[in-house]
Amino acid sequence: MSFSSLVSDITYRDSDRDDRRSQVSRARSYASTAATSVSISGEVSSQLHGGYSHPLARAWQAERQLTKAMLIYPLFMSDRPDEETLIPSLPNQYRRGLNKLVPFLTPLVRKGLRSVILFGVPLADGSKDALGTSADDPQGPVIQSIRLLRRAFPSLFIIADVCLCEYTSHGHCGILRDDGSLNNTLSVDRISDVAMAYADAGAHCVAPSDMNDGRIRAIKLKLIEAGIAHQVVLMSYSAKFSGCLYGPFRDAAGSAPSFGDRRCYQLPPGGRGLARRAIQRDIQEGADVIMVKPASQYLDIISDAKEIGKDLPVAAYQVSGEFAMIHAAAKAGVFDLKTMAFEATEGILRAGASIVVSYFTPEFLDWLGN
Ligand SMILES: [Zn+2]
Repeated sequence: MSFSSLVSDITYRDSDRDDRRSQVSRARSYASTAATSVSISGEVSSQLHGGYSHPLARAWQAERQLTKAMLIYPLFMSDRPDEETLIPSLPNQYRRGLNKLVPFLTPLVRKGLRSVILFGVPLADGSKDALGTSADDPQGPVIQSIRLLRRAFPSLFIIADVCLCEYTSHGHCGILRDDGSLNNTLSVDRISDVAMAYADAGAHCVAPSDMNDGRIRAIKLKLIEAGIAHQVVLMSYSAKFSGCLYGPFRDAAGSAPSFGDRRCYQLPPGGRGLARRAIQRDIQEGADVIMVKPASQYLDIISDAKEIGKDLPVAAYQVSGEFAMIHAAAKAGVFDLKTMAFEATEGILRAGASIVVSYFTPEFLDWLGN
């Protein structure tokens, strides 16, 4: 209806009140006839709006709602006790030494922080070698952090990322053969030893991110042998895809490979079948939690993980590149940071994850309030 005919229509109705009443009553009778015809033709299910017409009714629609308990905060622990250095490519994230850890975490724990995942960043001269010897150094930043956090925050759930790339001189996630390829057997031996050292130090959860074949089974067997399998969660980075989104993390952890790349052990971006096989394998090998990484780019894999591992919690790592992109978009005025962070993270939950490793954790603790 054009504007002019609308005006004349209103004028016409106002000029004759009786006629207007009769139009209204005709409209009502039309509406009731239409409603009846909907019910008769059996298409009531097409009427969705009423079901989310109220804010509370909208909240009821969320299958998995973001809560503080779902969040894991990544921490980069340096071997310089007093260090607190901003990581340039990872907005608001710092590399910290042991002396800065408790003061930093105290307010976050008070706001409801439940879990952290620790990454070691050895910076001292000579701290890196071909075997990643410093990964399980009892005086190293990860083991020292685990002990400190257990004492300082008894209710905090402590996860230790387990890998060698931060500690090897070549920056790869295992021990190499002479030709530069991964020696899977030696790598798995070494990585399972490192996991045991972290579990012994008091980590509630060990999370191998190396992607060597068979490491979940090796770690589980060592945990059983040591009599601590019943008290340690084994979280597997099962579907970890290679790609450019880890850039800021490598800056933070100083773990960029000195030659080659990680394509031989991280999954190719199109490798959905491989991801499904890796998830199945890790469940069979004794993983308690399955992780998919990165998160937002792999929602189909998160959903696959939930379907394959129906009875396991699925975690998703919202990686450094995803975090940096949301920050950059907020800075460019695309939308505000909070809205974009919620949308991205709730999308990950909707896909099937119930745990999210996120650099937004401190913000979410504020945004989610009490
Ligand atoms: Zn690694």
